[in-house]
Amino acid sequence: MQTKPATILIIDDQPATLRSLAQTLQGAHTILVASTGQDALDIARSRSPDLILLDVMLPDISGLDVCRILKADPELNGIPVIFVTARDEAEDEAAGLDIGAIDYISKPFNPPIVRARVRNHLELKHQRDLLERIAMIDGLTGVANRRCFDRTLKNEWRRAMRSADPLALVLADVDHFKAYNDTYGHQDGDDCLRAIARTFEEQTQRSSDLVARYGGEEFVCLLPSTTIDGAGQLASALCQAVRDLAIPHQTSSCGTTVSVSLGVSCVVPHHGLTPDDVLRHADTLLYRAKHAGRNQLVIENFPVIATQVP
Ligand code: GH3
Ligand code: MG
Ligand code: MG
Repeated sequence: MQTKPATILIIDDQPATLRSLAQTLQGAHTILVASTGQDALDIARSRSPDLILLDVMLPDISGLDVCRILKADPELNGIPVIFVTARDEAEDEAAGLDIGAIDYISKPFNPPIVRARVRNHLELKHQRDLLERIAMIDGLTGVANRRCFDRTLKNEWRRAMRSADPLALVLADVDHFKAYNDTYGHQDGDDCLRAIARTFEEQTQRSSDLVARYGGEEFVCLLPSTTIDGAGQLASALCQAVRDLAIPHQTSSCGTTVSVSLGVSCVVPHHGLTPDDVLRHADTLLYRAKHAGRNQLVIENFPVIATQVP
C-alpha cells in the first residue's frame, strides 16, 4: 500500500485539461502543475515527483522530448511517465511507450480510470523504491552497501564538479581482524563489524554524509562539501570512537582492544579525474596508516598535478 501522499506532476498547456486532471487527482496526492516542457523539467529536478502525467503537445519542448530528457537523466529516470494523448495521436502513444513511458491516458479522459491507473502505477513505483532501498543495504551491518556507495559517489562527484566543492573520502579497515576471528570466532567477528558500523553512523552527523561497508572489514565514509580539515576531524573521532568501544582484542599487535586504520583523501573533482583515482589515493593512505603501526589515520589532499597552460 502507498504509505505517504504521493507527489504528481501534471504537464499540459491547456488550462482546462490541467484543471480537470488536478481536480480528478487532488485529495489523496500533492499536485504540481506545469504548462511548458521547460517548466516541467525544472519542477521534476527540484521536486522529484513520484509520477508524471505528460501532454504530448506542448508549446516549447514536445512531450516526447521531455520524456527523452527525463529518461536520460540518472536522477530522474525512475519517475514513471504517463502520456496524456488526444484521440488522433495513436502514433505518439506508441512512440511514447517506446522511449520509456509506462502508460498513456486518452483525452477526453474518464476520471475513475485516471484515478485507478495512477493508483496502480504509484503502487508499482512504491514497490520498486522499496526493493531498491533493500538492494542498497548491507545485510550484516545495516549500513549502505558497496552498490549504494558507488552510485552515491558518482552522483556526489558530478554535484561537486558543478559546485567546485571539495569531496572527502575516509577509508577505514579493522586492524588484525583475521586474528580477531581466529581468536573469538566468526560470530563475534560479525558482532564487532556491526558495532563499528553503528559507531560510524553515530559519528557522522550531516544528512549528506554516507557510511558504507566497502568490503569484508572495510568501511568508507563519503563526505560531500567537506574540507580536508573537516574530514580529518571526523576520521580522528571515528578512530577514537572505535577505541572507546573497548572491544577486547588480545591478539592485536597495536593495542588490547579492536582498532581501525584510516586513509583520508580530499579532492575538488575536475575533468581528467575519476572517483576511482581518489579511492585509490585513500587506499594508499590507508596502507601507509597500516604500515606506520595501525590504529591511526593518514590524511592528505589528493595531489594536484600541475598542468601547463598552452
Ligand atoms: P590488517 O590489520 O592488515 O587489516 O589485518 P587483517 O587481519 O584485518 O586483514 P586481512 O585482510 O588479512 O583479513 C581480513 C579478515 O576479515 C579476514 C576475513 O575473514 C575477515 N572478514 C571479512 N569479512 C567478514 C565478515 O563479514 N565477518 C567476519 N566475521 N569476518 C570477516
Ligand atoms: Mg582489509
Ligand atoms: Mg583489516
